[in-house]
Amino acid sequence: MTAKPNTTKRVLSGIRATGRLHLGNYLGAVKGMLALQDDPEYQTFYMVADAHTITTPYQVEELRKNRRAVILDYLAAGLDPEKSVIFQQAAISEHFELAFYFSSVTTIAKMQHLPTFKDKVKQYPNHATMALLNYPVLMAADILIYMADRVPVGIDQEPHLEVTREIARRMNQDYGTNFPEPQRFATTGEYVPSLSGEGKMSKSVEGSFINLTDDLATIQQRLANAATDSGKGTIADEADTKLKKIYTDASGQRSDGVARLLTFVELFEGTDQRAEYEQQYTSTGIKYGQLKQQLAQAIYKQLAPMQIKRHELENNASFVDQVIADGNAKAKAVAQTTIAQVKEKIGLG
Ligand code: AMP
Repeated sequence: MTAKPNTTKRVLSGIRATGRLHLGNYLGAVKGMLALQDDPEYQTFYMVADAHTITTPYQVEELRKNRRAVILDYLAAGLDPEKSVIFQQAAISEHFELAFYFSSVTTIAKMQHLPTFKDKVKQYPNHATMALLNYPVLMAADILIYMADRVPVGIDQEPHLEVTREIARRMNQDYGTNFPEPQRFATTGEYVPSLSGEGKMSKSVEGSFINLTDDLATIQQRLANAATDSGKGTIADEADTKLKKIYTDASGQRSDGVARLLTFVELFEGTDQRAEYEQQYTSTGIKYGQLKQQLAQAIYKQLAPMQIKRHELENNASFVDQVIADGNAKAKAVAQTTIAQVKEKIGLG
């Protein structure tokens, strides 16, 4: 049993099994998962989204390895099997069954217009598969099969959550089901920028990320490659971009690299430290070498305890196996109940 068996409000979140977790996953998703795990109002379901991994090209053995790695990262980051149901998506075949029922209230046109679908098709032009098109429908099933009304994920997932709410509304209207319309649970790190260039930190863009398993030297090296400028200039607010501010150095060049770096400073060293650097930017100038050293230390300080715990877990395979087996059994029981109710409502039960 979980430690919070009597609560009815539920939370679902997951991360694809595409590699080691990075700071974007941690700040955008895992931190929210941890916060809700400690909220007695919620029963928390956290999966490794291994089935979502096969919506883009993948290697079978890599998938197996990464599935385990995500669970280890979860446990190392503080997900607690006494408080949360930690499980493997593909072990609960009811997700796929519900996704099929949901696909009957979802139009192809709607799915084709999602920006996330278009981006992935651009990335993998020869793999615009039905599975990829169906990704948001499966995600809706992942969430609604547990009747979850809170979903701790990064801001990039908002369009998918909108699809989930639309499916819930449609099902409730057409078939009298009782699905909640889930809301995203946002963290302060809901958008972690890439270290190296445009867009967000992402596993698929080399140079963009810092992994939770990186040692201090690796973090220093990754930060060393982050773009800077002359260190001195002007600052203006920009309401529309995720980087929030525009830094323009003495040569008149816009420095998004500095905006990204100071976002990391704020996330790991706090708003006061960011304000201090901004003060330097408009007066004496920032010394980026020192800034990066201090930032690397601050990031490593947060990661080091997780790395110690992960190392212990790597040597305790039977404990990890047991966590997954228990989580799968608990998730399956809830999923089966929902499927039975839905089948009845839609005329298949
Ligand atoms: P994915 O790796 O795409 O399966 O993403 C797993 C979770 O991490 C989702 O909740 C994403 O929204 C979140 N996430 C991924 N990258 C970032 C990022 N750069 N900033 C904030 N959240 C992120």
